[in-house]
Amino acid sequence: MSRRRRIYDGKAKTMFEGPEPGTLIQYFKDDATAFNAQKREILSGKGVLNNRISAYLMTKLAEIGVPTAFMRRLNMREQLVREVEIIPIEVVIRNISAGSFTKRFAVPEGTPLERSVIEYFYKKDELGDPMVSEEHITAFKWATPHELDEMVALTVRVNDFLTGLFLGIGIKLVDFKLEFGRIWIDDEMHIVLADEISPDNCRLWDLKTNEKLDKDRFRQDLGNVVESYSEVARRLGIMPEEGLNEGPTLVSGE
Ligand code: UDP
Repeated sequence: MSRRRRIYDGKAKTMFEGPEPGTLIQYFKDDATAFNAQKREILSGKGVLNNRISAYLMTKLAEIGVPTAFMRRLNMREQLVREVEIIPIEVVIRNISAGSFTKRFAVPEGTPLERSVIEYFYKKDELGDPMVSEEHITAFKWATPHELDEMVALTVRVNDFLTGLFLGIGIKLVDFKLEFGRIWIDDEMHIVLADEISPDNCRLWDLKTNEKLDKDRFRQDLGNVVESYSEVARRLGIMPEEGLNEGPTLVSGE
């Protein structure tokens, strides 16, 4: 693909060395995985859509003052991001019962929660990303109490903002997962939002029909995965005009 140094190859994204120190290039692949990578598929066009959607949402969040690692979208599949030290915790916030929550607490899918619920999962594939408490996070020194406070405050702000943004386009934000990283500016450590925000890590339901417009379409074999991600992009007003093709399209005839 290119001669750039590959820093990390993840399930849905690859990180390459960036053009300047302290930067990385985040490349969005079409690979879809679920259930700790036991289910895998290539969904043509997914990476292009997630790159667009995440860039758009991160830009909107930066506009309201949420610090993010995102710098700018470079092309169809790549974005320039700040290099951060990833905190190995997935922060999940839920507004409506779905997914693992329905099984863990026997709360039927679709039940609105009295108040948003935050959960933490330790990022460790070998252990199947176990759910952990604040005590585990601080005792194992994955994050300090102060960092954790910052992560929670940012998660609540992101949830409030995105809930409104999605409602405005007829979509319920059911739940989502965030990741955070540390950056140092002038010897001071800051917590910033990292990774991506896309239908791969959010549950998004149509407001009227409850139709799923997210990765559950892949997890549950509902079909039309890329079409649903396109619908989210279309409603956000960012559907790539050139379509999902990367190269110039050959024009036949003449
Ligand atoms: N999620 C994610 N990565 C993970 C696990 C979950 O992005 O490794 C997202 C998922 O898309 C959903 C939310 O976090 O929006 C809550 O997921 P849940 O705990 O219900 O797990 P799942 O049912 O996806 O296994």
